Amino acid sequence: MENNGKDSILIIDDEKANLMVLNRILSPDYTIFIAKSGREGLSRAITDNPDLILLDIIMPGMDGFAVLTTLKAQEETKHIPVIIITGLDNPDDEERGFLLGAVDYITKPFKNAIVKARVKTHIQIVNQIRTIEWLGMVDGLTNIPNRRRFDDRIAIEWRRAMREQQPLSFMMMDVDKFKIYNDTYGHPQGDTLLKTIAKIFDATAMRPTDLAARLGGEEFGILLPQTELDAALRLAEKIRSDVEALRIPTADGKTITTTTLSIGLVSQIPTKSITLEEFIAQADRNLYTAKKKGRNQVCS
Ligand code: GH3
Ligand code: MG
Ligand code: MG
Repeated sequence: MENNGKDSILIIDDEKANLMVLNRILSPDYTIFIAKSGREGLSRAITDNPDLILLDIIMPGMDGFAVLTTLKAQEETKHIPVIIITGLDNPDDEERGFLLGAVDYITKPFKNAIVKARVKTHIQIVNQIRTIEWLGMVDGLTNIPNRRRFDDRIAIEWRRAMREQQPLSFMMMDVDKFKIYNDTYGHPQGDTLLKTIAKIFDATAMRPTDLAARLGGEEFGILLPQTELDAALRLAEKIRSDVEALRIPTADGKTITTTTLSIGLVSQIPTKSITLEEFIAQADRNLYTAKKKGRNQVCS
């Protein structure tokens, strides 16, 4: 959705005058979407995917409580915080709003500054939650997706490939003799090496649907949806040789270090006779074979 990077708010209210006031006080800071009925609000909540919803209660047709109930029951909209703005100022209605999952309740007539302040608070919470979710999916050392993100994605891509009968490729990679590297140059230099390898994944031409992740320690994985063995092999070989060609200076600049990667590759159109766990285990076995055959190579 086009929103120039601003946080967005969907206002659901049947009264023109309210829509105008709210739009006027909030549009300098947020992208505003407007819905003039409960039904329109529900469909816009899905299509516009706003960061926050301001919801009127008394509306003809579907009232605000019904809208809120549906919003909280749908997968696509249940995470969107809803502030109720209403003429109903009895405590039972307020309680009902909170019980249905609203995050705040403002009664009309409202003070503009109060609406602005409460909206700002909830938008801040939304952004904090996003940051936390992002941190939970990204590896802190290398800044590439972590194992959790990878596990989520490979399960999704496996099902998709099964449905569409498309090949899915996966390479499991492990830095060779990394223990010796750490022992020789120190743990911080080992960290530098891991970060440098992660940058190679970023620099390698991959499709937007491909996913490179740090699976743990000195182990990385790349997932390649809709990719046949041949193409995956070429990419694996390119990464292997790019890593071999790395020249990584130590922090004091006095020594130039090098490293290599072993890669276990699998490619498969999923069928009912093989599980995702077996697919991953096969990549692991291929990696083990690459190690046994002398490291710095791709096995598939
Ligand atoms: P192989 O070629 O068989 O893979 O040998 P290896 O030495 O790479 O494998 P091993 O599993 O024996 O050692 C892995 C080392 O990786 C040991 C561990 O201390 C180090 N390591 C794991 N995570 C990190 C990290 O985040 N930073 C650094 N610097 N080292 C790490
Ligand atoms: Mg290793
Ligand atoms: Mg290892």
